[in-house]
Amino acid sequence: MNDFKTDILSLEFDELESEILKLGEAKFRAAQIFSWLHEKRVKSFDEMTNLSNALRQKLKDRFFINHLTVSRRLSSSKDSTVKYLYELSDGNHIETVLMEYEHGTSLCISTQVGCKMGCRFCASTIAGFKRNLEPSEMLLQIYETERLEGKKVQSLVLMGIGEPLDNFENTIHFLRLLSDKRGKNLSLRHVSVSTCGIVPRIKELAKMGLGITLSVSLHAANDKTRSQIMPINDKYGVDELIATCKEYFSKTGRRISFEYSVIDGVNDRRENAVELNKLLGGFNCHINIIPVNKIKERSFSSSRKSANTFKKYLENLGMNATVRRTLGSDIDAACGQLRREYEI
Ligand code: SAH
Repeated sequence: MNDFKTDILSLEFDELESEILKLGEAKFRAAQIFSWLHEKRVKSFDEMTNLSNALRQKLKDRFFINHLTVSRRLSSSKDSTVKYLYELSDGNHIETVLMEYEHGTSLCISTQVGCKMGCRFCASTIAGFKRNLEPSEMLLQIYETERLEGKKVQSLVLMGIGEPLDNFENTIHFLRLLSDKRGKNLSLRHVSVSTCGIVPRIKELAKMGLGITLSVSLHAANDKTRSQIMPINDKYGVDELIATCKEYFSKTGRRISFEYSVIDGVNDRRENAVELNKLLGGFNCHINIIPVNKIKERSFSSSRKSANTFKKYLENLGMNATVRRTLGSDIDAACGQLRREYEI
């Protein structure tokens, strides 16, 4: 039904303005409509009460307001983590996770339905790739969760289902909408974009200087191990990736965060820490160690103990690292695990 209509929630302010002009309407209408969509967050054109009925009808003919519906809400009994399984307007499902940290409320959003990257330890990839998310669908994960939970999201991580840099254009549109002063107005300093390492896109991001934090899922410091667990490494190997990360840091001045999921028997030994030190020692970056989450289709495992042991190896080599707190472990808060149950 919506095939021929434009997704109005995905339009940046300037784009909306030119659409409104095309309809023969005054420019200031764009500001009113943008405010209804992104500040008051109405779900229908009829709620835009400062517009005439005629204009509301024009908008209905030309646009649609995208929406998400809740398929499931899981809340942790161990901490205040809440996970939503949202249904998109075409019936696909994505996951969004709300977490409370000492520094505030953080939301982890999905950027694609499924994922093409094929990382062996990741649940998001198992049900396959369906499609990219629209900017509106990324925004709505914030808007809906804020509304339903009565909370304000203070920081955001693009670490849910999907590879944000494989949906580059929509992700950039989304980031611009997110930081628009007339909308959610979230500073991109509070946004982390996580990537498995798509080198040309990291270079593009470096040129844009958006102020985001880049998280790079490294998980191994040599090509042999990394290629075993992350197929993207066959395309962009470790040396090329790290050289690009160094370029990113020197261009943007933003410290990169490297994610290292410890997997028993794969990347957890002292010699792996030595390799990581060779690769990143002296580079001003952050290393975030994560105990790999068990997913039922895969046999990988590790524990908080292995993660802490790996941290000690790094510290003995003079490197700083943190072990990520595991939140919502009883509700499988890690991405992809819930959607998996809904896709056959
Ligand atoms: N595609 C992006 C973002 C989504 S994955 C990326 O690759 O970075 C978010 C993070 O969770 C990545 O660091 C990913 O490697 C990690 N991850 C995925 N499955 C995991 C699991 N089972 N255990 C621990 N970390 C996992």
